[in-house]
Amino acid sequence: MPDQLTYLDHAATTPLRPEARAAMLPWLGERFGNPSGAHRVAREARRAIDEARDVVAEVVGCRPGDVVFTSGGTEADNLAVRGVHAARPGPVLAGAIEHDAVLEPMRSVGGHTVPVDGLGIVDLDALAALLDAATAGEASTAVAAPTLVSVMVANNEVGTIQPVRDVARVVHERFPDAAVHADAVQAVAWLPLPDLLADTDLVSISSHKVGGPQGVGALVARPGTPLRAVALGGGQERELRSGTHDVAGIVGFSAALGAVLAQREATAAAVRARRDRLAAGLHAAVPGLVETAAGADTLPGTLHVCLPGIESEALLFLLDEAGVCASAASACASGAQQASHVLAAMGVPVDQSRGALRLSLGWSTTDGDVDHALAAIPAAADRLREVAA
Ligand code: PLP
Repeated sequence: MPDQLTYLDHAATTPLRPEARAAMLPWLGERFGNPSGAHRVAREARRAIDEARDVVAEVVGCRPGDVVFTSGGTEADNLAVRGVHAARPGPVLAGAIEHDAVLEPMRSVGGHTVPVDGLGIVDLDALAALLDAATAGEASTAVAAPTLVSVMVANNEVGTIQPVRDVARVVHERFPDAAVHADAVQAVAWLPLPDLLADTDLVSISSHKVGGPQGVGALVARPGTPLRAVALGGGQERELRSGTHDVAGIVGFSAALGAVLAQREATAAAVRARRDRLAAGLHAAVPGLVETAAGADTLPGTLHVCLPGIESEALLFLLDEAGVCASAASACASGAQQASHVLAAMGVPVDQSRGALRLSLGWSTTDGDVDHALAAIPAAADRLREVAA
């Protein structure tokens, strides 16, 4: 066992906040009602869910009645893409660096990706051109009147923040009826959302990226958005999502969001300072290191770098041995490293992307964690270069 454990994978999942744990505990014990029932035990559970709905509404900037609790960001994204398509069939457009939770449902209903630039910012001119071609009825583009355009607020690998308001404007100027969906899963811990997302129709968020438990999330669907359930059952959530609520999870999610609302600015500033110190230290200590999306507006906690001549998988192995938990890209179910579609879409050369390292800091990251990473990463890189030589 390494002497020190440094967790720099908050973009994959961030530790449960104490506020969330404390709020959940009664719901793992003496409180246990099914909120769909009519008696007092059930009503108590329903009250807890309604209170959580109010908190989500405050965070996103919507009405409590617009919130649909789900099993996480993936289900929220699927419901947005497939649910809008089911209600109003038509092509779906999504940014090329969206999470697979958006890209896979998009592919399943027939869709197109919108390119991004070298910083990972969605290309508004390309989006406008695609939509204009659709307006002109150019069959070659296959973008007949789109039913949905999906763009993430911030990317999970490189952290780039997207111009969501501009995307919504470009879409709605041409197709006022097209729905705009924002995947805010990575952004919600860091950015005030209400203004940013004012022109969107649907928003996905996830609990475990903000210090709530895993397996809970929400889709916000504003009034008038065409949307149909994609999994059928009791229709507990606005007839759009079925299944008995995870009351403990929803209560924990809400408590974590409450902590985010109270501490966001201070946490973001502290995390940004630590991230910048980590970046400066790595630039100084690792020859040839390239910072991905340098100069872009990024999330405070995300630092994505590429180490030339080094394989991510070997680097991550050595870092794990040294007690530093990091990632090469978005976590995938098998744990295996696959080429990143995000880096490919940004035009990062394959040679460079082989040495990708995502360091994502969060609310619990300390100065000691940064010191540890600054010792471990250059040492691991040196060792791998020696072996290669
Ligand atoms: N969207 C983005 C941008 C993500 O980063 C993730 C998770 O990494 C998801 C969606 C999926 O969320 P969940 O893990 O809650 O299913």
